[in-house]
Amino acid sequence: MSTLGMIVAASYFVAATLFLLGLQRMASPRTARSGIQWAGVGMVLATLATFLVPGLENIGLMLVAIALGTGLAWISGKKVAITDMPQMVALYNGLGGGSAAAIGAVELLRWSGTGAAPPRLSLVLAVLGALIGAVALSGSVIAWAKLDGRMDKRYVFPGQQLFNLAVFVAALIAGGLIVHALGLPWIVAFFALALALGVLMTLPIGGADMPVVISLYNAFTGLAVALEGYVLGNEALIIAGTMVGAAGMLLTKLMAKAMNRSIASVLFSNFSASGRGAAIEGSQKPIEAADVAALMAYAQRVVIVPGYGMAVAQAQHKIWELSQRLIERGVKVRFAIHPVAGRMPGHMNVLLAEAGVPYDLIVDMDDVNPEFSNTDVALVIGANDVVNPVAKTDPQSPIYGMPILDVVLAKNVVVIKRGKGTGFAGIENALFYADNTRMLYGDGAEAAGALVAELKALDGGGH
Ligand code: NAP
Repeated sequence: MSTLGMIVAASYFVAATLFLLGLQRMASPRTARSGIQWAGVGMVLATLATFLVPGLENIGLMLVAIALGTGLAWISGKKVAITDMPQMVALYNGLGGGSAAAIGAVELLRWSGTGAAPPRLSLVLAVLGALIGAVALSGSVIAWAKLDGRMDKRYVFPGQQLFNLAVFVAALIAGGLIVHALGLPWIVAFFALALALGVLMTLPIGGADMPVVISLYNAFTGLAVALEGYVLGNEALIIAGTMVGAAGMLLTKLMAKAMNRSIASVLFSNFSASGRGAAIEGSQKPIEAADVAALMAYAQRVVIVPGYGMAVAQAQHKIWELSQRLIERGVKVRFAIHPVAGRMPGHMNVLLAEAGVPYDLIVDMDDVNPEFSNTDVALVIGANDVVNPVAKTDPQSPIYGMPILDVVLAKNVVVIKRGKGTGFAGIENALFYADNTRMLYGDGAEAAGALVAELKALDGGGH
């Protein structure tokens, strides 16, 4: 190996180590920010090292592409609203898959143009990587359009799954023909079918299932990049792609499990197929803000459970203000986070961090559940499915088996929501009818504001 080759290999090794350490640091909110930076440094190093690869061509074009990509990503990253993050992630994932497919296309066209037969394994991997990458690209674009509100329908038609299967088989046949005899018509047909497959697979999936799908396409992108990395003989791509593929697959599995959905049922979209569950007896009992404020002010332990409605109401700042007042009074306040509260992984953590809630007040589901029976007041704000006890008690319920926050075990439960609206799963919630539950009806931010005002009044108008 030449000296330059050795420098490149060593740089890729260091970059891969940085990716790994960065990923590990992302496991905790405290170190996540630096984890992103470590991985970013690894990416810059891998990119720079690529310029040292002996015999490199088209350096000018590469520089233009890097400048364009960096500029666009910088601007969009600065501009994006935190609520629009899922669709931006979808789009960027998709572009990664598209890049892998483009590598496959360039290699296949080059081989077919020169007539030089590459090793069969390289051909097969190039075709597979291109198939997965193209599906990730076109599927992610549809996911982005749905999340961005540009397309809000589930497009379903009779025999859809069979039709999709036929397109998949046709793409495999076209890929097989490329491997058998490289030819431009097969290559064109193959890419058209692969891109169509991504669109067709994503069309029937409901908007709210999109985060799981995005995570799955993210895993696809990683796999496609790793396969094309093998074709190019580029270790950095193989390692980075494998890591993205494995991490994406794990995240997809975790999210599906926390929603009590199999990945197949997300992809083949039969959500809520198992019915509505048993009817719930009793009535919802309203309460006034002044009474809730008094209840919390004289409590020892309060657990706040945020959900999707807090994000809709943007109530996190008021909720933190309320918590600070309680903490000043000596109340022990904690925030309980369910892994799929909201509409994207980490949704609640992001909102609470934005409002300035310290990490050590935020507790995960498994750690907080044993605490509920010792909790004087559980304040649920805009959460519904993730606190619904029927997940444990009603085998007929579509969410039966989904792990939930055991809020119902708290001595007093107060639920802030606007009315009788259901959550994502569209079912009644037994918690709202429980003897120890009171409903504080209203928009999340307004209700939290009213609680702050009542606490102020209790404190004698101080602060
Ligand atoms: P949820 O079950 O969707 O319930 C949200 C509740 O918030 C609704 O019942 C609604 O009731 C209330 N709400 C809406 N706007 C409000 C406002 N302005 N002020 C106050 N309340 C408001 O939420 P969740 O408990 O967070 O559960 C998340 C669900 O999404 C789960 O079923 C999960 O599986 C699913 N999901 C999560 C992800 C993820 O990655 N996190 C991805 C896909 C799907 P009103 O209309 O009566 O106000």
